[in-house]
Amino acid sequence: MAETKVTWDQKHLPLVIGNFLACAITIWLTYRVIGHVKELVFLWPLTGVQLGILLPQWRCGTPRKFAQFAGALGVMAGGFLLHEPLWFPGAIAFISTVEVWIAGAILSKDITTFEDLKNRRSLLQFALGATVGPVSGGFIGAIPVTLLLHTSYARNVTVASLSDSLGIGLVLPAMLFILTGKYRNPLKLVPRLKMGGPALLFFILCSIATFWQTSNPFLFMIFPPMILLVLSMALEGAVLGSVALTIIGFYATIHGHGPLWLSKTTLPEERLLLLQLFLWMSIATSLPVGALLDEQRRAEKETSEARRIYQLLLENTEDMIVLSSFSGKERFVSAASLHLTGWTPEEFLKLSPLSTVHPDDRAMGTLVIESMMAGKREHTFRYRLAQKDGAWRWVEAYARTYLAPTTDQPLGYVGTIRDITAIKSAEDAWLREIDELSRSKQELSTLAHTDTLTGLPNRRTFDESVADVIVRAQRGELQAALFMIDIDNFKLYNDRYGHQAGDDCLRKVSAVLKDHAGRRYDVVARWGGEEFAILLYGTDLHGASAVANDTLESVRALRIEHAGNPPGIVTISMGIAMLTPEFFAEPSMWIQAADRALYLSKRSGRNRATSAGLDLLSA
Ligand code: GH3
Ligand code: MG
Ligand code: MG
Repeated sequence: MAETKVTWDQKHLPLVIGNFLACAITIWLTYRVIGHVKELVFLWPLTGVQLGILLPQWRCGTPRKFAQFAGALGVMAGGFLLHEPLWFPGAIAFISTVEVWIAGAILSKDITTFEDLKNRRSLLQFALGATVGPVSGGFIGAIPVTLLLHTSYARNVTVASLSDSLGIGLVLPAMLFILTGKYRNPLKLVPRLKMGGPALLFFILCSIATFWQTSNPFLFMIFPPMILLVLSMALEGAVLGSVALTIIGFYATIHGHGPLWLSKTTLPEERLLLLQLFLWMSIATSLPVGALLDEQRRAEKETSEARRIYQLLLENTEDMIVLSSFSGKERFVSAASLHLTGWTPEEFLKLSPLSTVHPDDRAMGTLVIESMMAGKREHTFRYRLAQKDGAWRWVEAYARTYLAPTTDQPLGYVGTIRDITAIKSAEDAWLREIDELSRSKQELSTLAHTDTLTGLPNRRTFDESVADVIVRAQRGELQAALFMIDIDNFKLYNDRYGHQAGDDCLRKVSAVLKDHAGRRYDVVARWGGEEFAILLYGTDLHGASAVANDTLESVRALRIEHAGNPPGIVTISMGIAMLTPEFFAEPSMWIQAADRALYLSKRSGRNRATSAGLDLLSA
């Protein structure tokens, strides 16, 4: 017993005074009502009354001990009022204190209120406390009684034990019911009485009928109505019925009525002893059944409450909750399936699980299940969930395995499926936007680097390429040649054929140039106006000259009529400069060198290529 260290306080005064008065009144009343017989058999309510008062406070060690002592004094006071010789209440006070002590120590472990009686564990405790305490008290209490009254010790032990056991069995639950039960406020008992009232009334009437007649041994008649009462009011019914039966039984028996008068004995205390035995039996029958019924009803209520809450949760979550064992035996789908798929849970369960997944997502779904069967605990994945109308809806599923309670083997999974159509379309829009932005950025940068008329890189790009080539040439990686190209007498072409034809001509020439500088890193650019520039990678002068002559020839081969140009067709002039270390520091010098060579080509008659620092290459 966990005894908290509670020190004495004014607030414990009612407990002490209460126990004193209760003991005094009990002694006085039982003695007055039942008769002037100096036998323990008649004082049976005393232990139950004290336990009823003390048990709720049992854990307050010190004040409770004071109250117990006050109880003993109360017994003495009651005896004193009855003008009994002091040894008699003294002995009773001693015995009942011992009993209360033993029974209280046993009972207080689990039982301090009426509600505590309503389960099977405390029921055993109750049975133990209601027998061990009285039997121990009986062995001690029978000694003085035997010595003084010269009766049989064994009989006195039996009588005392039985009486006090009845006292605890009957009075203690009744006291706890009044002092700690949830029906302390009698108004709260009204609804329960509405249900059980007729059964209680029927039981009382049957009890009266049984105890009022003296001609037949009909004691057993009270059992059917008692069962009825317990079934309708459980432990409360058992307690109320037992109290009513005790009052009726004692009242009738003392006043010469009831089946017990059929007994052959002439001794009144023998008859009362029989009555006690009968009451003891009926209590031992009704209390456990009542308590177990209460326990069972409470468990049922808790289960149905829990079920109601789960049901509420499952029916009201927007997400679809799915449970599926890997064996496929156990499957559950929550009500949300209706708004997420159009199928009711019952319809959804009839579909094969894979058929609800978009064909493109099935391989992933199978992988997820396989990996969970292999031991992975959870997965989050997106897929398209089938709709009753044939469409697909993007969802995100979070699945987690559940394990076998003992072996920890994965048995199946519980999944939460959430509609992500909105998220998905926002993401798609976002991706499209990013795509668009990067494309337009690409276009802008292309625009900045490309000539719109010919589609060739512009002068700016060419400058960048020149810088790049020089860096690589400095590392000794390559040789490079730079061509500057100009269309011959192009002003005249424009004048004669028009600007539009001039543009067409520029495009045709640029296409030829591009064909001839076809290696991966070669660059053909429009330098400006009708001038072009070419960078050839990995080429020596010999190779560059060959490319230059081929290009001149190819332009001529276009055979674009040009009356203002002496050959009668469109021709070009070229200047070539090889990259040499002197240009590393100043790239523009390299371009100038090619430009000077071009000038030489023009000066010497056009339609030819000239290499910088060298003579005419071709004519
Ligand atoms: P040369 O043989 O000495 O180079 O004679 P040219 O007439 O080609 O000489 P010039 O460089 O003075 O003339 C260039 C002409 O090219 C001027 C202009 O009419 C023409 N031109 C420049 N850019 C364009 C263009 O984008 N489109 C058209 N159609 N003509 C252009
Ligand atoms: Mg020019
Ligand atoms: Mg020109």
